[in-house]
Formats: sequence, structure tokens, C-alpha cells
Amino acid sequence: MRASDLLHPRPEGLYCPPGDFFIDPVRPVNRALITHGHSDHARSGHRSVLATQQTLDIMGLRYGEGFAGTTQAAALGETIALNGVAVTFHPAGHVLGSAQIEVVHQGSCIVASGDYKRQWDATCEPFEPVKCDVFITEATFGLPVFRHPPDNEEIARLLKSTAQFPDRAHLVGAYALGKAQRVMRLLRDAGYDRPIYIHGALAKLSDYYQSQGIDLGTLEPATVESGGKDDFSGAIVVGPPSAFADRWARRFPDPISCFASGWMRIRQRAKQGGVELPLIISDHADWDELTATIRETTAGEIWVTHGREEALVRWCELEGIAARPLHLVGYEDEGD
Ligand SMILES: [Zn+2]
Repeated sequence: MRASDLLHPRPEGLYCPPGDFFIDPVRPVNRALITHGHSDHARSGHRSVLATQQTLDIMGLRYGEGFAGTTQAAALGETIALNGVAVTFHPAGHVLGSAQIEVVHQGSCIVASGDYKRQWDATCEPFEPVKCDVFITEATFGLPVFRHPPDNEEIARLLKSTAQFPDRAHLVGAYALGKAQRVMRLLRDAGYDRPIYIHGALAKLSDYYQSQGIDLGTLEPATVESGGKDDFSGAIVVGPPSAFADRWARRFPDPISCFASGWMRIRQRAKQGGVELPLIISDHADWDELTATIRETTAGEIWVTHGREEALVRWCELEGIAARPLHLVGYEDEGD
């Protein structure tokens, strides 16, 4: 069977005709297989959803229990038959519950990575390379300029700043699912044991991470009720990036604006956003991780999506690997 007959783009998302399912569809469909809980991959309103238990739990927290007609949990490494197509979820190392989806039918094997990274992250299962014929890779940071530094070095810069400016609050913008909890976990791993103050939008997901055995230490709500302005002197406050533009941010004393994102590699982007302390911490593979992963899958063909497709396609061609961009619409990942 030709790979493009096994999976190909449709307006709703990546479709498997023999299995009659979509992967990460952007519109409501009958059967959706979902790689992870970020909002552009995991939407509500599908008739049935197959995903890891943690992704199902996260969707329930974000959309309410009625987010799909029916749900089925896929255990990592377990093969499930859908109309004769064998489907297996493998860890993707992106956020808690994230998975790559391996699709096998009539001797053809395609792995859809979803979003992934290779840097160690204590808040989720590490990426597992899967040998396949076709590997569908994301390319959010698919340019050689993107090389993420070790995350503990970035956290050390944050802690150094809190020591230099002990009276100022450090406001850390971080996406609500994954990045925020990773930043908190990194702070704990660096020995930071004071309470971390969090925006209300992070509470449910952070509680869920703690319930899954990921120790984030003492988290306190960053509300006025929890103290006067001075109580946030020297505090680290974590919130979704959107919160920092509104009134919420003005309650903190002489705040230092920080933002944890792979995009912080681009100085201009940090400057435009008014970010004083950019932290280059990404949940996506950088250029070296993308190219190393493509080699490890031993795939003869690469389909590139979600970002800077051209450079990665060109790199594959120079390496003698067939590659093409896969034009999927509707993705603007919330968790970069
Ligand atoms: Zn994502």
C-alpha cells in the first residue's frame, strides 16, 4: 500500500481511509486519535476519541467531561486494531500524556510524531524513536538558527536574577499545559523551595500534574487575597503569557517580565513583547533534535509539517532522504 493511501491531509486533518479515523483533527469528526492536550491538537466535539489516559484527563479538565461522545484510553506500546489498521501510541516527550501515533497497514508503517522534543523533561515520558517507513515530523523550530540551550542553565539565569533583585517580583510567562509545570519542576530541581505563585489559569492542570506524581512543591494562588503587594517581593509568579498583558500583572511590585519559550532565541521577539528576561525553554525539538530524530527513525521518507517545512525538507534531500511538506491547516501550537 502506498503511504499516501494510508494517511493524507483533508480539511479536517490527517485522515486514514482504511482505518476511517483522523489524527488531531481541527474540526469535529467521527473518530479522532489525539496526540496530546494542546488546544490546537485536542479539540472538543468529536464523536469518539482515542488518546492516552493522561491526554483524555487533560481534555476533560480543559473542556469538561462531555468533550467527546465516547473515549478510549490507549496504553503506551499497546497495539489497537481499527478496521484492520494497527495503531500504537509511543511517548513523544512533549507534555504530560503526549504520544506519537504509529499506523501500520498492509506492510506500510507511518509514525505521526505530533509535537515532540528530545531534551530531558522530568514532567513527561521521554520520546521513544520508532523505526518506520514514513516519519511525519513537526518543524516548529526547523531552522539551523534554533538550538535550545540546556534548560537548567536558563533556570539558573532566572534564579540569579531573583538574587540580584530580591525586592522585585519575577513574572514568568509560560503556557498553561506543559511549559508552566516544567518551569516549576526545574525550579525545584535547582533547589528553589519557596512557594511558587501561580495564576488561576494554571491551577487545575498543575494539580493534575501533582496527582500524576510530578512534584511541583508548594504552589500558592497569585491573588490579592493571598497578600498585599509587598508579599510578592522577590516572589516567582508563573502565569499564561496572555495574563501578563492585562491588569492582573499590575498588582506585583516592580515586576521583571520573563517568558519561557523557544522563540526567545530571537532577541527581536523578546524585545517586541517587552520581555526583560527571555528564557529559552522549549517543548519542541530544535534543529539538532529534528535531524537526529529523522536519522534514528531510519524512515525512507519524511513528511514535514507545523512550521518551517522548507529548510528541513531541503536538509533531508541533501541527506538522500525523500521528503515533502505536508500542508495541514489550523495548527498554531500553544506550547512552544
Ligand atoms: Zn503541542
